[in-house]
Amino acid sequence: MKNSQLYGGIEAGGTKFVCVVANGPDRVVDEVRFPTTTPDETLRRAIQFFQPFVSSGQIHAIGVGCFGPLDLNPKSPTYGHISFTPKPNWSHTDVRGTLQRALNVDIAFDIDVNAAALGETTWGASMGLDSSLYVTIGTGIGGGYIKDGKPLVGMLNLEMGHVLIPHNRELDPFPGICPFHGDCFEGLASGPAIEKRLSLSGALVPEEDAFWDIETHYIASALMNFILTLSPKKIILGGGVMQREFLFPKIRRRARELLNGYVSSKSILESIDNYIVPPALGNQSGSLGAIALAMQMTEAQPL
Ligand code: ADP
Ligand code: ZN
Repeated sequence: MKNSQLYGGIEAGGTKFVCVVANGPDRVVDEVRFPTTTPDETLRRAIQFFQPFVSSGQIHAIGVGCFGPLDLNPKSPTYGHISFTPKPNWSHTDVRGTLQRALNVDIAFDIDVNAAALGETTWGASMGLDSSLYVTIGTGIGGGYIKDGKPLVGMLNLEMGHVLIPHNRELDPFPGICPFHGDCFEGLASGPAIEKRLSLSGALVPEEDAFWDIETHYIASALMNFILTLSPKKIILGGGVMQREFLFPKIRRRARELLNGYVSSKSILESIDNYIVPPALGNQSGSLGAIALAMQMTEAQPL
């Protein structure tokens, strides 16, 4: 039986919020995008967008993929809150509770990359695979690993953007910008790290610039570590920096060089073009992933 129930989805990003009412990529009933300003104003806009759909009984559940760090322990008194974030005004914001109290619907809440990863597994590039990894390289770097249809959670959620990767300071003297670790993956390779290092947005750095070999090496090194530890059946690379499409073949080549034949999988040895890929849902992975979170909570079968 086809499920025609509608759901709400929020991609709550540090730069912008995307709110949708949908039940899959082929049925997006309404969508709104607005910049992330203060918590009060931003959450009020989201609530106003969903209110008519809730009042008319069209949606009963909303999924939220939120920027972090988040408290995701349902037993914690601060469950659903953003914990400490360098983003002004947003530390300790009760995102989940504010939405739940205003709209009185069920809220499925997870980190943004887990939602995007789930969106791609439900309708996108990793559809039908029992393991896959989504890595975003944007303002921050993060990864969501989906195993058997669910984001992998351990003691806390994964923080793959902060792994340590080889940093040759002669080739790249930039010290990194992570406030916690300096030259971790995010500290070296995120959009703001590129901008600080070159005094130029990554969007404007020419394709021929030698810096891209360094960026490629960082991304491929991190992917090697993820391939060796999680063995995903597909890796999806999203986020602003990956808008530079010429990076894909460079990263694939470098990852294969670094692995040096050690992982004897056809996916890597023969069809890496199909193994490290852009998101099939484009810039909708996060918002549709939030829809998938809401569906998963209510155990509806995606179309
Ligand atoms: P967010 O991380 O807030 O969700 P994005 O994924 O778009 O947003 O990441 C924004 C970061 O990506 C910024 O640091 C920006 O400089 C960088 N960026 C955006 N577009 C591009 C591009 N076309 N090429 C390289 N870097 C980009
Ligand atoms: Zn770090």
